[in-house]
Amino acid sequence: MRSHLVQRNLRQDPPLALRGEGIFLHDSNGKTIIDGSGGAAVACLGHGHPRVLDAMRAQMDQLTYAHTALYSCESAEALADLVLEGEPGGLTQLYLCSSGSEAMEAALKLSRQYFWEIGQPNRQKYIARRQSYHGNTLGALAAGGNAMRKAIYQPILSDAFSHVAPCYAYRDRGPAESDADYVARLAAELEAEFQRLGPDTVIAFIAEPVVGATLGCVTALPGYFQAMRAVCDRHGALLILDEVMCGMGRTGTMHAWEQEGVTPDIQVVAKGLGGGYQPIGGILANHRVMDALRDGSGAFMHGHTYQAHPMAAAAALAVQRVIREEGLLANIQAMGALLEQRLVERLGNHRHVGDIRGRGLFWAAEFVKDRGSKAPFDPALKLNDRIKRAAYDNGLACYPMAGTIDGRLGDHVLLAPPYIATAQDIDSIVARFGDAVDTALAGLP
Ligand code: PLP
Repeated sequence: MRSHLVQRNLRQDPPLALRGEGIFLHDSNGKTIIDGSGGAAVACLGHGHPRVLDAMRAQMDQLTYAHTALYSCESAEALADLVLEGEPGGLTQLYLCSSGSEAMEAALKLSRQYFWEIGQPNRQKYIARRQSYHGNTLGALAAGGNAMRKAIYQPILSDAFSHVAPCYAYRDRGPAESDADYVARLAAELEAEFQRLGPDTVIAFIAEPVVGATLGCVTALPGYFQAMRAVCDRHGALLILDEVMCGMGRTGTMHAWEQEGVTPDIQVVAKGLGGGYQPIGGILANHRVMDALRDGSGAFMHGHTYQAHPMAAAAALAVQRVIREEGLLANIQAMGALLEQRLVERLGNHRHVGDIRGRGLFWAAEFVKDRGSKAPFDPALKLNDRIKRAAYDNGLACYPMAGTIDGRLGDHVLLAPPYIATAQDIDSIVARFGDAVDTALAGLP
């Protein structure tokens, strides 16, 4: 009988995930799987971490819900204090909601309200990047540049968003172009877009520091984000960085922007904040933005029933404490270096692996039909999905993506092991992944 639950694939019901234990998932097919991507880079502490479960049980006994119109709660206050300890990059306040998309909507509204508060209501446009993903709600979807996800909904999406090229050196840097020249070209494109729109109509430039779900762990070239920030500063616009996937330790620093020499005005977080123990997302905002609201109307004209939910905040607080108290950033850096080394050893010379890239414990391979021309495989072959299925047969969960390459589809597969991964775990993940790649490619017509 068909499941009554709406599944991602309406024609095929997936197996049931029955139990999670550290890096492993046990399922209704009787299989034990290494969760090598934590879902979509979510389960940053693996499954069933005892400290997180204890914190959730304690919160449950104390308070499960209180509405924010009347109350704040201890777990949300403590989470904000911990995440903003030392006011990293001048970020001073945390707004909490229940997902990455909701957090992106909050960032869009907060940035718009900021300019309304300071008497610049004509700022009504955002510039984001092609081949980006910022969530599936209508505002976040409009902000993103994933043509495939947007196509059906295009007529009902806001036209407040325009898009420039991402920093995607593997495909877009010219053969004789230096890194500096490529960055300068991208900065000039952003500047031209400000000029086209009218510089004093732009609210913000929006980007993922390490691109996740559309390109697969694409890092920017050195100097890129500084150049983009300089363009925003020249025109008084804000910088919104979407760290839903790459933030909260995933790339080896607590915030991915720490490795870019810039600080955002608003940062969007979600997956690594609560590690999947509860649905939670949030935005971190700086003095510039929050003071304007506090000194102006005195309220953020936005909110949700479940914002700053006590249970979600308690789970995230425990996750964040574990990351800090158990020195997991150092483990991400060490295991990330090993993951890179093993992937390059196993797949670096593979004739269908065009690029292996990433940072920290956030790595992807881009598959091509031909390494010379970088031509992708025919999308109808669904290579990324074949790799996912072959990996599952080998006891590994990875995250497949049909990323867009200038309107065409390409195949990327992402690995995002938990921050607690050991060297042995990394070896097992790469061995199973490498074999899955071979199996999937051997089975192509
Ligand atoms: N932003 C980025 C960079 C993401 O990767 C995602 C989800 O994959 C989102 C936003 C949306 O988050 P959610 O699926 O929690 O709504």
